[in-house]
Amino acid sequence: MNVGSGMIRHLGRQRLSFGPAIPTGVSEAAGYPTVNGATNTPVQDIHRNGPPNGTPRNGTFTGPLANTRSMRECFEIRSTDAGGRLGELTVPRADVTVETPALLPVINPNLDTISPRRLADEFGAEILITNSYIIHGTEDVREEALANGLHDVLDFPGAIMTDSGSFQLAEYGEIDVTTEEILEFQHAIGSDIGTPVDIPTPPDVSRERAEAELETTQERLEAAEAVDTGEMLVTAPVQGSTYPDLRERAGRHADATDLDVFPVGAVVPLMNDYRYDDVVDAVTAAKRGLGADAPVHLFGAGHPMMFALAAAMGCDLFDSAAYALYARDDRYLTVRGTRNLDDLAYFPCSCPVCASYSPTEIRELPDRKREEALAAHNLHVTFAEIRRIKQAIRAGTLLELVEQRARSHPTMLDGYRTLLDHAAELERTDPVSKGAFFYTSHESARRPEVLRHHRRLDRLSVPDSLLLTEGDAPRGDEFDASWRVEPPFGPFPRALSKSYPLTAEVPDRTDRAAIAAAADGVTRLVESNPDTEFTLAHRGWPATIRDRLPARVELVDLTGE
Ligand SMILES: [Zn+2]
Repeated sequence: MNVGSGMIRHLGRQRLSFGPAIPTGVSEAAGYPTVNGATNTPVQDIHRNGPPNGTPRNGTFTGPLANTRSMRECFEIRSTDAGGRLGELTVPRADVTVETPALLPVINPNLDTISPRRLADEFGAEILITNSYIIHGTEDVREEALANGLHDVLDFPGAIMTDSGSFQLAEYGEIDVTTEEILEFQHAIGSDIGTPVDIPTPPDVSRERAEAELETTQERLEAAEAVDTGEMLVTAPVQGSTYPDLRERAGRHADATDLDVFPVGAVVPLMNDYRYDDVVDAVTAAKRGLGADAPVHLFGAGHPMMFALAAAMGCDLFDSAAYALYARDDRYLTVRGTRNLDDLAYFPCSCPVCASYSPTEIRELPDRKREEALAAHNLHVTFAEIRRIKQAIRAGTLLELVEQRARSHPTMLDGYRTLLDHAAELERTDPVSKGAFFYTSHESARRPEVLRHHRRLDRLSVPDSLLLTEGDAPRGDEFDASWRVEPPFGPFPRALSKSYPLTAEVPDRTDRAAIAAAADGVTRLVESNPDTEFTLAHRGWPATIRDRLPARVELVDLTGE
């Protein structure tokens, strides 16, 4: 071994980045949480960082969209984890505050599998969604809704959101109401959150069509702004098909209106085709355009398997028709996918339905009863996943939950890997300190915490000669300092060993992705400190990874190759 021969000459000890008096300064200067005073201040993080893309919220637009307000009064973010957030949506017309992420069960006004009253009492639903266009077109329901109000017709005490018929427009090509008419109707029947008639442009259409339809949608949002809707909140759907730049532009336009809630529209065809990677690209693009404080609804995201992924992107509201539609076909939802009732010998669930009945007993129920039992199970699973997500955001473990869900289906894994392509965006709202970082898959190497550590390496001061080692600190004084190297983070001063995320739990049998990420960290540190001599003592890193390191790094293999 030739560990740093000739490096004793550097005696500039005053530049050491470790030592008894320095740790706090090191962590504060570099933006690390202090060991004992670790604070979780995500909301301040958001404010400090501004909107996701740094675009000024106001002044970007001229004409009718200029001079919009600078804050959404209806939405408040309580805490964040990755891109996910716990928030409160205030719905003034219903006089309720909905905790987000929230699930909106879809109610067909003409047939309810589970009554809205039961949704509230038994499942704790704070908000639901129904279709004003169907109500508008069904004479007896319409007259009753106009006379008594939607809350009375449905018998639901929470907030009621209404869709406009855009879905029918996409399915059947035309509808017979305008944005002004349907918003006035939604207001007249007592909806709490109304929706204009946007154009849900499907995936993969020509750019010309996507642009033309987006223009129409944007005209309708401006028309919606002009409608007197009183206290009713109004949504501003974000379209743009599978063109991320159009989604971002649409998000920026919607954000500059004075509308209140922002559904990302027309992603159902993508989800039906298991194109979760494209869903992630569409949603993250829309989010880049929207302000950080905009409540985001993922329109039509009904399967609980993908809620954690969607929440990690920063979606706050989900609607589910799946619980009822799947029940009609004897399909049983789980957070790891869908099962056919006929294939189940046991129920992998402890909800009241599954605890009371065996699969055989459910199969023997009459059609209507069986559908209701399956719908109830499907709802229990769905609401339980929402609670699990909220707890994960609180505990700072949302990405670990996403990693688990990503193992349910290869296309979910594509979705998670695509989300990690946007780690820099997630990093902006990721808390500086959490309980623990668990490295549970090689995707963990691309988490925002790793990216953040690499960025902070630029801020750490280094001595003239530095040993980076996966082994113990050397006894001699050949180097001015010795830093630890831990995959996936890479190098850090020993004084930061107890700071998040460097306290990570990482498997002893590390993987290539973690080593590659550590090497990226070494490269970053070396490149930002051209005057320092670096030696890296590693435990048998593969040659293909070693070759990516700057040539001037002296390498020592601790495994004695
Ligand atoms: Zn169950």
